[in-house]
Amino acid sequence: MIKILLLISYILENIFDFVLVKLNDSYVKKPLPENVKDVYDEEKYNKWINYRNDTKKFSAFETAVTAAITLVLLIFNIHSKVFNLFGYNRFVNYIIFIAIFALFSTILSIPFEYYSNFVIEKKYGFNKTSIKTFILDIIKGFLISVILSLLLFLGVMLLFEKFGNLGILFTIIAVIVFNIFIALFSLTFLKIFNKFTSLEDGELRQGLTLLCEKYNVKIKDIYVMDASKRTTRANAFCTGLVKKTISLDDNLVNNYSTDKIIAVFAHEFGHAKYKHTLRSVWFSFLRIIILIVSLGVILNIPEICQAFGFDDVNYYFAFTVLTMISWPVSRVFDLFSNMISRKFEYQADAFAAKEGYGESLIGALKQLSKDALSNLNPHPFVVKLEYSHPTLSQRIEAIRNAKKD
Ligand SMILES: [Zn+2]
Repeated sequence: MIKILLLISYILENIFDFVLVKLNDSYVKKPLPENVKDVYDEEKYNKWINYRNDTKKFSAFETAVTAAITLVLLIFNIHSKVFNLFGYNRFVNYIIFIAIFALFSTILSIPFEYYSNFVIEKKYGFNKTSIKTFILDIIKGFLISVILSLLLFLGVMLLFEKFGNLGILFTIIAVIVFNIFIALFSLTFLKIFNKFTSLEDGELRQGLTLLCEKYNVKIKDIYVMDASKRTTRANAFCTGLVKKTISLDDNLVNNYSTDKIIAVFAHEFGHAKYKHTLRSVWFSFLRIIILIVSLGVILNIPEICQAFGFDDVNYYFAFTVLTMISWPVSRVFDLFSNMISRKFEYQADAFAAKEGYGESLIGALKQLSKDALSNLNPHPFVVKLEYSHPTLSQRIEAIRNAKKD
């Protein structure tokens, strides 16, 4: 019975995702909002439609295959069969078990990643990855995910075994610390995958430095990241607690005008001024607390793991169960956290607009959307549920209104 309920929950999750895709589909044929009509010309718009169809079909196929394989693993209790294959001590068994499943999911993802990068993204001119970078990325990604999940998982197991239900509290603290650690060292992690060089002196560097001085943002350095070895898409970010490190993709530096890039950072400094990161972080902590309490509940009901063939509670499989049942809670959390995030985006945009960067920001946003072949007309329900940023049309309208105040 427990098993059937969990399998139904997993199937419902996939159906729900499918419905969202269909909802978005129903909006594709609607006319574009007036203020974003000029983003795509006719040729580019047709390209967008084709790109969308290709990625959609492929991701539906990927989801179906992954879901089918996952269901087979679950129905035939493969997890517990693999776990019981090894007769070493429990600790070693867990390490082997985690490594095997991480390897399995990595291998399973390779054909999909390959097709997505070297067939679809390449066809539309996004992909710049060489086979060598592709293989290195997979190996590095695999090692990092094994090391991090072993750390997290063994830590959780030790805390639960040593302290019983009080372990829930310690686990919550440990996971929050772990998250802060990952956030603080995000640049270090990125450096495993990318090369960062200091932005050379010139109009852009001077402009950004002036902007930082104007808003009292202390900077450590301004870097250019070699994103172009993988993609033609562009991005930029700003990290650090006291002194900020600014990072710009080379695609941005090479293809966007200085005033557009400056406007993007005026928006970023708007986030910093209103302390948006600090104001939204408690929400992700709340999510962690709810998930770990649920994990505690799963670990207190051995029948759940036993329904899938385990002799007793299995700490690793409990995480799998957690992901199968927690999706409605996650969806509700996404709904609220995306709502807060969109509100903050409007605030940061309004800040940039009031400081006189409005039109340049609009120009930058339009170019970014065009270059990424973004969906300019997503379904409002999908926006509410999944969009951390308002749509391009909504942002342009809000920026124009903010300027008038
Ligand atoms: Zn933003």
